[in-house]
Amino acid sequence: MEKNKLIEIFKTALKEEMLETNVEHNIDLLGSEYKPDLVIYPQSVDDLIKAVRLANEHKIPLYPIGSSSKFKSAVAPFTGGVLISTKRLNKIIEYRPDNMSIEVEAGMKINELQEALAKDNIFYPVEDRFTNATIGGQVAANSYGRKKYMYKSARFYVMGLEFVSPQGELVRVGGRTVKNVSGYDVSQLLTGSWGVLGIITKVTLRVRPIPQKRTQLEYITEDFSKVTEVIDSILKEQISLASLTFRKTDKKYLLQLELEGFVESLELQVNNLKDKYGFKDGSKSQIEVNNYSEAIISLPLDTYCQGLKEIEALKDSQGLIYQGNITNGLVELNSQLLNQELVNKITSVVNDLQGTLVYQGQRLTKKERGTGYIKVLKNLKSVVDPHHILIPQSLVLKE
Ligand SMILES: Cc1cc2nc3c(=O)[nH]c(=O)nc-3n(C[C@H](O)[C@H](O)[C@H](O)COP(=O)(O)OP(=O)(O)OC[C@H]3O[C@@H](n4cnc5c(N)ncnc54)[C@H](O)[C@@H]3O)c2cc1C
Repeated sequence: MEKNKLIEIFKTALKEEMLETNVEHNIDLLGSEYKPDLVIYPQSVDDLIKAVRLANEHKIPLYPIGSSSKFKSAVAPFTGGVLISTKRLNKIIEYRPDNMSIEVEAGMKINELQEALAKDNIFYPVEDRFTNATIGGQVAANSYGRKKYMYKSARFYVMGLEFVSPQGELVRVGGRTVKNVSGYDVSQLLTGSWGVLGIITKVTLRVRPIPQKRTQLEYITEDFSKVTEVIDSILKEQISLASLTFRKTDKKYLLQLELEGFVESLELQVNNLKDKYGFKDGSKSQIEVNNYSEAIISLPLDTYCQGLKEIEALKDSQGLIYQGNITNGLVELNSQLLNQELVNKITSVVNDLQGTLVYQGQRLTKKERGTGYIKVLKNLKSVVDPHHILIPQSLVLKE
């Protein structure tokens, strides 16, 4: 459809202040390969419903967007259509500290949420490094942070949500009670659906008290076999382990361990870890493994060390293993040192260990989802969104 005609359609139902045609200057992290004709900033859920209904009626592609930090890895480049931003839907709807729950609009940013909760010594445990990410984007992507081992992912904290279906119907699922699901758990279906099944407008999150104490310990060695020994053993310790990460620099290996919990309990654990393994008090700077780096391996915990050993043993693999978040099962590789031969060998190692390797956005290891997996997703999408208006370019639905 011609751009001016498309803009006129939305002007019939939405105030001009919600419509932005100069897309390039408004969406920070989006590249020039994304060329929507229009960005809509709804100021209320009603505005959003109007936009979705118009898009449906005129079969105009719609792309929900939060802070755009993850958008490019979920949606292929496109020309035309409409970005629908949750930026102005950013209020707290209902905060009930005694219920350990908070209901917020989807465009609220993580840092604003944490700020509001911190007054009551409460936090939302999915600590995304990108603190400007929106709750809607986080839930749509089922995000998680460095301490996933302890706190899990966004999915675990969604008690209920409200969304607008691709046909413009308002849907509310779940609620404020811990037990609130009978039948299909639709809020969990929307969580991690990357926007293809509906536009999330509100989320009720369960929240947690901020832990009494957070401690970081470090262990440095040049001996690789010591590193793998410590990793294997630590995972079986009765400790309040929030994360275990490592980095390889020159010939040295640095292990970082984070504990969270009660003061007295952590003191005992710290003393034990120092005596038993030789851990020392840690520095403030933390190893951050980029879940979406150019070359990232994911391994089961019980084969993690074996994976490290086998990759280290490959010809030309010196300097290749860069850092890892052990408790999240991730190994980040230095992609500049990779060549096709090495990529093939690593793919084979990772396949044998039932892990995954994603290199330059492509999953190279075997998929074990069965032949019907994508079919089920596509059928579900067709029923919910018969005109395929919501993110037709979604990479989530690709084979
Ligand atoms: C420096 C940096 C660090 C990061 N660290 C982490 C990390 O530690 N852990 C992690 O998991 N991720 C991380 N990310 C990725 C990103 O922060 C998260 O995945 C985040 O949840 C995306 O939020 P967003 O608001 O930017 O969403 P966007 O990028 O705008 O959107 C992401 C996807 O969700 C869809 N979407 C957005 N809003 C809605 C909505 N309201 N309803 C339906 N669908 C919607 C979009 O269509 C898109 O498919 C990082 C990114 C950066 C740039």
